[in-house]
Amino acid sequence: MAEQGLVLDMRAIQDPFEILWIEGSPYVDVSGGALWEDVLKRCVSEFGLAPRSWTDYLSLTVGGTLSYAGVSGQTFRYGPQTSNVTELEVVTGKGDTLCCSQTENSELFFGALGGLGQFGIITRARVVLQEAPDMVRWIRVVYSEFEEYARDAESLVEEYCFDYVEGFVLVNSDNRANGWPTVPLGPEQVFDPTHIPFTAGPVLYCLELALHYRNADHPSRVDTDVDGLLGRLRFIQGLKFQVDVTYMEFLLRVKRVEEHAKGNGTWDAPHPWLNLFVSKSHIVDFDREVFKKILKDGVDGPILVYPLLRNNYIVRKISSQVKLICKGFGLSPSLIMIDGRIPSKSNRTLYMYELINERHRLREDRSKSKYSII
Ligand SMILES: Cc1cc2nc3c(=O)[nH]c(=O)nc-3n(C[C@H](O)[C@H](O)[C@H](O)COP(=O)(O)OP(=O)(O)OC[C@H]3O[C@@H](n4cnc5c(N)ncnc54)[C@H](O)[C@@H]3O)c2cc1C
Repeated sequence: MAEQGLVLDMRAIQDPFEILWIEGSPYVDVSGGALWEDVLKRCVSEFGLAPRSWTDYLSLTVGGTLSYAGVSGQTFRYGPQTSNVTELEVVTGKGDTLCCSQTENSELFFGALGGLGQFGIITRARVVLQEAPDMVRWIRVVYSEFEEYARDAESLVEEYCFDYVEGFVLVNSDNRANGWPTVPLGPEQVFDPTHIPFTAGPVLYCLELALHYRNADHPSRVDTDVDGLLGRLRFIQGLKFQVDVTYMEFLLRVKRVEEHAKGNGTWDAPHPWLNLFVSKSHIVDFDREVFKKILKDGVDGPILVYPLLRNNYIVRKISSQVKLICKGFGLSPSLIMIDGRIPSKSNRTLYMYELINERHRLREDRSKSKYSII
């Protein structure tokens, strides 16, 4: 902790929890200290509604993830969690309690979102909601070639046909923590390695997808839709896994991993987590040098890799603060690639330039801010 820094236990602030309809659209006002898993449970079970954008793990506070970004497999579609709030209440360093939004105290609003707690304490957030689906078809498909994995993942995030797109790198072996056994979605599913082409390298790639549906949807329609969408992808035939779970079971999937890890004592071990943004034009080089060489034996935890569209202000802002966000994660290395959407040479230049320049600008912005820095 910083010298003379303060630690606030935000769990003491549990209220408010209020659903609002503004111009026909639903929102929820929640406390900055509320856990996202509790927001999910109340919104779904009491109102049939849910926030649109999530983190993978939900035992995190609303104020905590809004101070970083809040990214997961829905980010390509709705932006990070920071793009899904319309109003905040913030207690500034001077002790003022201010309401802020894009139009009211906007400097504070954009400073607090992704602001690492430096611009004030978020005590309330107004979060955009949507109708909650009943069920989720959760799918994993495996690739041996990174180029094919990346091409399919990028086309899926551009087409918005699935509700969730993530993925991970696994070791091409039967290693329990890093290899084939990490792919199946239930004990009854078997990973048959005879399907892996002999040309495969030391690592494989698993694309993880989800499609929302309602109880009223006929199972054969869901099958037809999923088969149609998967039919275009170039994964290894025979290495497709799918399961139907409730929407809450899907969003709380990492909770089960946590319970298992607590049971065997591994949850309390230090889990340094590295988070990187890699531009599209460099991701193939990154795969060759990092995944296939440095990480070819795995990291005893997930190596996530999935595309995000860079057309979002907050994604641009967080990608320019990578050094700062690294400290937010507590589990294992994670890698995120960004679709640069600009020609490769200038992409690199622009990315490095943004990285250095944005960090200077951020520091300048802070010193110019009319709100005290905590
Ligand atoms: C197991 C695990 C999994 C994670 N998975 C993801 C993921 O999938 N996606 C993702 O985007 N992130 C993920 N994170 C990172 C997470 O978003 C950040 O660590 C976030 O800050 C955690 O919130 P917290 O409630 O635990 O914050 P804390 O650890 O309590 O606080 C961390 C810092 O956040 C700031 N902060 C917290 N609350 C407030 C507030 N109310 N107002 C202002 N500043 C505040 C402060 O700077 C504080 O020092 C994960 C973290 C963990 C531990």
